[in-house]
Formats: sequence, C-alpha cells, structure tokens
Amino acid sequence: MGVFSSADRDGHTHVLYGADDASGLRAIIAIHSTALGPALGGTRFYPYTSDDEALRDVLRLSKGMTLKNAAAGLEHGGGKAVIIGDPRQIKTEALLLAYGRMIESLGGRYITAEDVGTTIEDMEWVRQETKWVTGTSSANGGSGDPSPATALGLFASMQAAAGYVFGSTDLIGRRVAVQGVGKVGMDYVGLLVEAGADVLVADTWEPAVDRAVERYGVKEIPTQDILFADVDILSPCALGAVFDVKSIPKLNCRLIVGSANNQLASDADAQRLAERDIVYVPDFVANAGGVINVADQLHGYDRERVMAKVLELGHRTTEILAAADSLAITPNAAAIRMANERIKAAINRSGS
Ligand code: NAD
Repeated sequence: MGVFSSADRDGHTHVLYGADDASGLRAIIAIHSTALGPALGGTRFYPYTSDDEALRDVLRLSKGMTLKNAAAGLEHGGGKAVIIGDPRQIKTEALLLAYGRMIESLGGRYITAEDVGTTIEDMEWVRQETKWVTGTSSANGGSGDPSPATALGLFASMQAAAGYVFGSTDLIGRRVAVQGVGKVGMDYVGLLVEAGADVLVADTWEPAVDRAVERYGVKEIPTQDILFADVDILSPCALGAVFDVKSIPKLNCRLIVGSANNQLASDADAQRLAERDIVYVPDFVANAGGVINVADQLHGYDRERVMAKVLELGHRTTEILAAADSLAITPNAAAIRMANERIKAAINRSGS
C-alpha cells in the first residue's frame, strides 16, 4: 500500500505507527477527520495476520467513525486505533501504559475508548498516561458500558422507521426477528417486548438464547433461519456483512434496523435492498447510542443528557428516510450525504 496518494489515504489526515519493544506494543492510530472536533473512536486489539491487514482495517474503521460521529450530531471527527496481537496472549499493563503514551503524543487530536478486544478496565490503564480516553468505568465517574445506550438508540431508530414504513409506531403484534442477544440485543429485546412486539431470537451461544426466552418469553428459532424469517422488522445485532448478493434475495422483511456494525457487505447492497422494497436504516445511524454515551464523558458524564441525545436518533432516522425518498436515493446514500454536508459546513466555517 502506498502512503500519500489520495486513493490510498482515502481522506485520512494522520496515521501514527507506534512500537514499544519492552512491552511488545505494535499499534496504528488513524485519524480520518477532525473537521467537527477531535477524532473519536475505539481501540481494537486483534491478532492481524499482517501489518497491511491491520492498516487496512484501521483506515476503514476510522473513516466509518467520521460518518457515525457526524450522523450522530457529535462535535467529533473520526479516528480509530488497532493494537496488533492476541489480547489474551500479549495484553499487559506495561503494554497498555505504552499505548497510553502513544495516544498522549497526539495531544488530544485523537480520543480513544474500548472496542473489540479491549475493555473498560483496559481504558483505566490507558488513562494513567493520557486524559484522551473515554468510556471508562462508571465506578470512577466514567460513562461505563455503552450497550444500554446503544439498545435505546436502536429502539428509537427502529420505532421512527416503523412509523415511516408502516404508517404507525405502534409495535403491538409487529413481528421482529433479532439476530444476536448479547449486550445490545438482550436490552433491545426487552424494549420490544415491553412495547408489545412479537419477537423471534437466535444466537449461536445457547445460554444467551435461554436467558432471552426465560426473561422475556420470546421465541427461539434456528440461527441459520433468523435472517430469512417472515417478519415485519429484522434487527441484526451480532455480525457484520450479513447482507450481500446471496442473502438479500432470501429476505422476508419490510424493514431492517440493527446494531451490528457494517451490515452491508458492500455499498451496492443498499441498492439491492431498495430494489426488493426493503427499507434499510444505516447501521451507523441506528447504533450511534454507544458513541454518544462515551462522548458525553468528555463533558462530565450526565446520564439524562445522554438519553435525550440518544432518543434524537429517532428524529434523525425519520429525516434520513424522508431525504432518501425526496432525492430518490437509498437511506444509506442519504445518511452519508447528510453526514458529509455537516462536515463540509464545518470546514467552510473554519475556513480550512
Ligand atoms: P455481544 O458480543 O455482547 O453480542 C453479540 C451476540 O451475537 C453474542 O451473544 C453472540 O453469541 C451472538 N452471535 C455471534 N454470531 C452469531 C450468529 N451467526 N448468529 C446469531 N448470533 C450470533 O456484542 P454487542 O456489544 O451486543 O454488539 C452487537 C453488535 O452491535 C456488534 O456488531 C457490535 O459491533 C455492534 N455495536 C455494539 C455497540 C455497543 O454499545 N455494545 C455499539 C455499536 C455497535
């Protein structure tokens, strides 16, 4: 991969490589944009098979955070970091402290948080070396686990989209299929059941399904069937890339709203869904509750303020669906366009 060509950079402004021989740290921090404010995005700790793979992933994720933060109405640009290696094998306090010093060297241009392979406890170690970290433990005044905020935002987004698609936000008797009842999916199922929806769930981890069935009386269906269930609403809350040229023809729903990141295998799949008359709410809009939660810690965490902002994701969803209709584009394209307009306006204001 080249370094400076605009195609290879894909709009990124900074890429920082950090290594610390004493602790074995090898990390890359990518900043895609600071037009709206300091770049915000989590740290992924993952056993990448090559440095190139790690670089590609961090660039992709960092660009995604620019869109998510802009769409969520946050005063933050997009950034992301990856630490290369198996967290179960190489994660130590010394490594996390070295990583904290790497973040500190950026002087606040990048603010980190937990992501796949890192935890709230890890962020407490990072915080010993830098204040540019958020999403730390609620026991120490931090924002804690973002999942309840993500679930609430997902519910608000889904309800707004249901109003748009079905002409009513009333969920009584509406059939909803939820793939994955983990931290987000489980809370979301609770909100759905409370609202009177008829919920089907599936999870590859049987204890999670058992808990959902026991707690909420929902119906379990086999994991291979959940995406194709005959339902009104489908909510992927497990994995990315679930919608592609193979799965889309087999779907049996009218509306898709879920928390899983990167649900479309490619942007072309947004068009494929539209051609099947299925409304797809972009994942980076529906699942922004988590980043709203961690961002709030930077202003002294206030749960009520967070919940109010998270509920605004409902209005944002309605706006995006209306814009998609009036411009005759997909909701995915409309959301990207609205996020980019916010960024462009900020750049014009700052004159840079
Ligand atoms: P989680 O790991 O707690 O839950 C995911 C669940 O999906 C697990 O119970 C897992 O067993 C299940 N699963 C995995 N593969 C499956 C499959 N093929 N079929 C059915 N179930 C399967 O994760 P989470 O924190 O609940 O996040 C869920 C999704 O939402 C992820 O894609 C995550 O990136 C995204 N997300 C989460 C947050 C958050 O605040 N936690 C914020 C934004 C986005």
